[in-house]
Amino acid sequence: MFKAGCESYITASLMTSDMTTRERIINLLQSHSNPLSAEEIILVLNLQNMKPRDIYEHLKHIAKSVKARSGGKEVLAMIPPSCKSCGYIFEALDKPKKPSKCPKCKSERISTPTFKLVSTY
Ligand SMILES: [Zn+2]
Repeated sequence: MFKAGCESYITASLMTSDMTTRERIINLLQSHSNPLSAEEIILVLNLQNMKPRDIYEHLKHIAKSVKARSGGKEVLAMIPPSCKSCGYIFEALDKPKKPSKCPKCKSERISTPTFKLVSTY
């Protein structure tokens, strides 16, 4: 009895403390129906030592692993950044990032991309 209780306690604590940043980001995205930006992810998960570009790097891998482990039923969707001056939308981005400049009007007022997990069926 005691032994079993002990084991389950250890398993539970390992699960929380050993959770990787990527798993924490996946959990966060799964528990939110509204899309989140890299800045919001940093804030909510207390990842102040990270920059948005670190989060984009994680999201790149998360997109692959989420798709692989769900068999393509769940994917990471990016609401693409857009230019706040002329409305240009950066739709053709192949990876998560925030462009620095609008190719159309050269404005640097670019909205931040946001991310959410969506099921494809
Ligand atoms: Zn523009």
